Amino acid sequence: MARDTTEGRPKLTQALPITIRNVTKKYGAVHALDDVSLDVQSGEFLTLLGPSGSGKTTLLMVLAGFTRPDNGSLKFGPDEVIRKAPHLRDVGMVFQNYALFPHMTVSGNVGYPLRLRKVPKPEAAARIERALDTVQLGGYGDRRIDQLSGGQKQRVALARSIVFEPRILLMDEPLSALDKKLRDRMQIELRHLHEKLGMTTVYVTHDQREALTMSDRIAVVNHGKIMQLATPQQLYDSPANRFVADFIGDSTFLPVTRKGSQVLYGDTVLMHSGALPDTPTLALMVRPERLRLAGADSADNANIFHATASEVVYQGDSYLMYARLSDGSEISLRGSIRGGTVTGLPAVGDPVTLALDPADTILIDGGDH
Ligand code: ADP
Ligand code: MG
Repeated sequence: MARDTTEGRPKLTQALPITIRNVTKKYGAVHALDDVSLDVQSGEFLTLLGPSGSGKTTLLMVLAGFTRPDNGSLKFGPDEVIRKAPHLRDVGMVFQNYALFPHMTVSGNVGYPLRLRKVPKPEAAARIERALDTVQLGGYGDRRIDQLSGGQKQRVALARSIVFEPRILLMDEPLSALDKKLRDRMQIELRHLHEKLGMTTVYVTHDQREALTMSDRIAVVNHGKIMQLATPQQLYDSPANRFVADFIGDSTFLPVTRKGSQVLYGDTVLMHSGALPDTPTLALMVRPERLRLAGADSADNANIFHATASEVVYQGDSYLMYARLSDGSEISLRGSIRGGTVTGLPAVGDPVTLALDPADTILIDGGDH
C-alpha cells in the first residue's frame, strides 16, 4: 500500500465553531461550572487553563457528551448537541491517562473508533496507517501497547483520537505523564499537528507555560468561571485581575493610590502607558524580568524604586534578586547572565536602584479574587 504522507495534503477536516452558553454543573454544593459562556472559533486552538479543581475536566466532559450539565446550551456549528450521545458528536478525545486497551496492538487501539463506526476493513487499515504516520508511528501497528514508551503511548492515544477525522478535538492534560524534555517537544509537535489538521481544538492544562506555548487563545478558569479569555500575550501583559496575573508568570503586586488622573506609589507619580482599570482599588503588577537594575544616579526615563538587596540567587540561566522597598514590600528582579559568570551584582544588604519602563508598568484591579 502506498504511504499517504500528510505533507501538502489539504486539511482533513472542515472545522466547526463551538458555542457554549450559560452552562452550569453542580455536584452537591460545588459549582463545578458556574454559568460558563464561551465561543471557540472554527479551527482555533483554545486552552482551558486553571488550578486543580477549577472545572476544566468538567467542561471538557460536557463538550464530549460524557457529562450532562444542569442547564445551558452547546452548539457545534449550527447544531444544538447538548442532548446528543458522545459517539454521535464527531469529537476526538485524548485523556490524561491515555485510556488505551493494553491487550490490543497499536493498530487495534487506533482502529477502535473505526470499528465502532463500522468503517469497512480495507478503508480502516488505510486510515489507521495514515493516522500512525501523522503521529510519526508509521510501521508500529503490530506492536503491543506494553512495548511502547510513555511518549509513544501518548502518540497512539492521539492517533486514535484523529483516526476518524473528527471536526473537534478535545485533550485533557495529555502530556502530564511525560518527563519535561519530552513534554516540551510534544507541545511543539501537537501545535504543528493542529496546524496541519486544522480541527477546532480545546486543550486542558494546569501548566501556564504549556498554555502560553501552544494556544491561539487561553481561557483562564477558576471556581467554574472563566476569569479571562485572551491571547497568550494579552493575558501576560494585560491580566484582567489579580487571579490571572498571579496564575500566569511571576509577579509582585504593590499597592498604589489614585489621585485625579495620577497613580502614586508612595509619593512617586508612576508613568504608565496602558489603560487604567475602572476599579475601586489599583495594584501595580511587576514582572521580575521586566524590572532592571539601574545606576544610582540614573537619568532613565523609567519609574525608579530605591530598595535594599535581600537575596541574590544564581539559577544557571539567570539570576533572581529579591529587594526590600522602603515601605517593607519585597519585589523580585530576574536578570540575564552572560559569559557564564555573574559579575557586578549587588551583595545582600546593598542599596539598589530598580527601573521599570512605563510600557512595563501595568496597573490592575487591586481587589483580591
Ligand atoms: P479540574 O479538571 O479543573 O481539576 P474538575 O472539573 O475535575 O476540575 O472538577 C471541578 C470540581 O467539581 C471539583 O471541585 C471536583 O471535586 C468536582 N467534581 C468533578 N466531578 C465530580 C463528580 N463526578 N462528583 C462530584 N464532584 C465532582
Ligand atoms: Mg482535570
